Amino acid sequence: MIALWRAGTAVLIALSIAVASANAPSARGEERVRLPSTPSAATCQRSTFRVFIDVGHTIAVPGAFSARGVPEYEFNLHLAQDIDQALIDAGFDNTVLQLTNEPPPLGLFERAARANRLRADLFIAIHHDSVPDNLLKTWQYDGRQNHFNDQFPGYAIFVSYNNADRAGSLLFGKLLGEALQARGLGYTPHYTLSVMGRHRRELIDTGAGVYRYDALVVLYETHMPAVLLEAGSIVDRQEELQLASPERRASISAAVVTAVENFCAARPHRMAEQQKRYRPISRAAVFAR
Ligand SMILES: [Zn+2]
Repeated sequence: MIALWRAGTAVLIALSIAVASANAPSARGEERVRLPSTPSAATCQRSTFRVFIDVGHTIAVPGAFSARGVPEYEFNLHLAQDIDQALIDAGFDNTVLQLTNEPPPLGLFERAARANRLRADLFIAIHHDSVPDNLLKTWQYDGRQNHFNDQFPGYAIFVSYNNADRAGSLLFGKLLGEALQARGLGYTPHYTLSVMGRHRRELIDTGAGVYRYDALVVLYETHMPAVLLEAGSIVDRQEELQLASPERRASISAAVVTAVENFCAARPHRMAEQQKRYRPISRAAVFAR
């Protein structure tokens, strides 16, 4: 997320897919979400349900830097690739994994436009978190001065109330948060703190760790339910090591698959719409853009 308030730039293109269910406690400002008591996997047609996985940032404008100096983009790419594969392995084989070389702000609009053109059913932006510059401390690592903050580990999920499908976005955010927590991962509450200044956000689902962030382009320009996942803090020196591990990526990927499965099962009416407009795409074609 930090990259959203830092500069950044350029790269590639595309592929992947997804979605889930349960009645949530109504937190402050939270919209009530109705879920079927017994989601039926039979209503979810995985092969036609398109999840769009957006790799946050670009090679040239890579977002935040970790406590050990690794660009956020590298974390985003590796995790997104694992999520993409996990979804395909689970039968969501029309998943689209998007990479881009177009810098912001135009690149942000293009990400959403591409998901709209492909008529994705669900949009998930993959990021890794940092903190505002004034909260960073310095340390020496590998002979270089780096920046860290060990106070705010944990994931965070963002949705925009300006998204075309607010209820769907809230539902998927809830399902994703619950799936992450079922795997022992907790969210960070620090976006509610006054020390976050202009980056302070409203926590709209206190159980699942979902924040409201209306101004995120990729969330409000998309026509389908959309969330942005900050998978964890890469400026936290311990969590950075965990986030770099295949085991953590596997846990997060499994949580995404669970959330997608439940979302897909919870919204059979949207599946009917999707079947009418569904058009197969070539993964190779998307990559070649
Ligand atoms: Zn980011």
